[in-house]
Amino acid sequence: MKILVVNCGSSSIKYQLFDMTDESVLAKGLVERIGLAGSVLTHQPHDKDKVKLEADIKNHSIGIKMVMEALTDAQHGVIKSMEEIAAIGHRVVHAGEKFADSVLITPAVMDALKECIELAPLHNPPNIMGIEACSEIMPGVPQVGVFDTAFHQTMPKHAFLYGLPFEAYEKYGVRRYGFHGTSHKYVSQRAAELMGEHMTNLRIITCHLGNGASIAAIKNGKSIDTSMGFTPLEGLVMGTRSGEIDPAIIPFLMKKEGLSPDQIDTYLNKKSGVLGISGVSSDFRDIEDAAGQGNERAQLALDIFAYKVKKYIGGYVAVMGGVDAIVFTAGLGENAPGMRDKICNGLEYLGTRIDPVKNNIRGKAQEISVDGAKVKIFVIPTNEELVIARDTEQICKGIVS
Ligand code: ADP
Repeated sequence: MKILVVNCGSSSIKYQLFDMTDESVLAKGLVERIGLAGSVLTHQPHDKDKVKLEADIKNHSIGIKMVMEALTDAQHGVIKSMEEIAAIGHRVVHAGEKFADSVLITPAVMDALKECIELAPLHNPPNIMGIEACSEIMPGVPQVGVFDTAFHQTMPKHAFLYGLPFEAYEKYGVRRYGFHGTSHKYVSQRAAELMGEHMTNLRIITCHLGNGASIAAIKNGKSIDTSMGFTPLEGLVMGTRSGEIDPAIIPFLMKKEGLSPDQIDTYLNKKSGVLGISGVSSDFRDIEDAAGQGNERAQLALDIFAYKVKKYIGGYVAVMGGVDAIVFTAGLGENAPGMRDKICNGLEYLGTRIDPVKNNIRGKAQEISVDGAKVKIFVIPTNEELVIARDTEQICKGIVS
């Protein structure tokens, strides 16, 4: 079965075409600058050179059409016709409390996703546009929604409710939802496999450290807490996001700086985090370089980031009554041995320590704790697209030939 995985952003479409007989990627690519000048599709077939196709891509529907043309093109295509695509899996950011698992897209599901727009005004509309564009171009091909929030729906009330009047939850759905769920699920399952254990016997802390960063406490295969909240702004200090702060800072800064609600939102989401602290960059590579050259604020940004992660690890050990494995994933988690070492330095009381030789890896699934450590530490590259393809296959196999 060939499955197309689609991830639509406000001005972009990322895609991968999987052959599920061996889970190989036949082609992948990215449409950028949709609706803007200079829109372009970069298409990478698995066995040929990358091609860049410039065109006036006004909307997601035109973008999806171009993706189909690229996939079926005589020169750089990987399939003969669109009919070879048995099903399409979509990444959808927010499903609120409506879905705790991936689902087949139906008109009722679309209505439910539209109801979630107010919870994710930037993310859900392009996700919905992507689904609508695919229905228009490939009518009859089943589509599946895979939600960032779904895996965290197992959190108990005491973990997901805030200390606000209960009406805020009842009237507006104000609660912790958590994000990066597909990634936390995938890497925790891979960790269990590498340990030769069943998820139901394990307590795992997964650290998804990329531009956006979150941590999850996964007990017996279920997410019981996670650091992102009502939106992906809560929790860790991130590339450009503040993470948790005293909420009283918000009206204070709004008054002092004369900021509107939209402006404070931009301040917290785009100007804060390690970018705001260091004044150097949101990219940890630039910050590490600057710190190496003696930039004190860059060093401070790294120190604050690592401190927060460590604090969460401690908190999640407490709520799970111990931990069996700690997993690092995403851009920074997979590629930054120095940061992993900094975070884990001092966790010896848990019965674990990083092995500096094993830790010297990038982008490879491997245990990095010392031999015989009671608590295993892993690096596991995440693969959200593969989870989407697997869920789509699972849901569609009964309905497609
Ligand atoms: P997202 O998907 O949230 O945009 P990624 O998971 O791709 O982010 O992570 C991107 C971040 O990973 C970069 O901003 C950078 O800070 C970090 N990163 C990637 N490679 C390295 C590296 N070799 N060393 C340190 N940091 C890295």
